[in-house]
Amino acid sequence: MRVYISVDIEGICTVVNGESTGAKGYDYTRARRQMTAEANAAVLGAIAAGATEILINDSHGSMTNLIPEELHPAAELIQGTPKPLVMMEGVDGGFDAAVFIGYHARMQQPGVLSHTISGGTVSNIYLNGKPMNEAAINAAIAGYFKAPVVFVSGDDRLCQDVQAELGNVKTVAVKQAITRYSARSLHPERACELIEKGVKDALQDLAQYKLYQPEGPYTFTLQFINAGMADAAAMMPGTVRVDASTVSFSSADYIEAFRGLRCMISLARA
Ligand SMILES: [Zn+2]
Repeated sequence: MRVYISVDIEGICTVVNGESTGAKGYDYTRARRQMTAEANAAVLGAIAAGATEILINDSHGSMTNLIPEELHPAAELIQGTPKPLVMMEGVDGGFDAAVFIGYHARMQQPGVLSHTISGGTVSNIYLNGKPMNEAAINAAIAGYFKAPVVFVSGDDRLCQDVQAELGNVKTVAVKQAITRYSARSLHPERACELIEKGVKDALQDLAQYKLYQPEGPYTFTLQFINAGMADAAAMMPGTVRVDASTVSFSSADYIEAFRGLRCMISLARA
């Protein structure tokens, strides 16, 4: 069994604000250690379930947050950015299951550090009219490459959203969101115990999972935080200007639509 693990940081136990999510924050060193511990917990769960190959993708910011020397030796690690499939780089390698650790709610939803891809740029992302969080956007990439998402961890709000959107997925809430910048966390060791057990259980019977494959053609509609960002994104050939702050891009192929989405965000951020 081959298991793919994508690890973000906002949904890691005890992470509540920007001090934990970037190299300049006073709490970043501790947060990346816990991020590494939660990734390891997922690896241990996968090994216990019989995984023979485990690939971890560092999926936050610089994508060099996980501490390689502290990772379980059974796993290989993808680091750095840019990479074509971003938070899902490597999932096209033929995996039996995908696991998301440290994920978070979308912008405009309650949840710790809620945002969608770029907190300073994106207000809402819709796929064929439906609001999407990062977990759903990425689950559709996994589905495209025939890997079901079987386990997701993050705060309680993310777990609710994921169950509503993806259906049969095992979730573990490592913290309860109080506001966007506060939470009640489990003890970090307890969070790891629950992730290890949750991943092990989730990988028991892969036949129970359905691939997440939204129906095409695919239109990503991106509502930016201001009209200037939409001006920049609309420079990309093939886009449609929906309104002052909103631009869309369509394709019959999900990965091409996703790449269009990422290009629009990159233009808007530039
Ligand atoms: Zn992140």
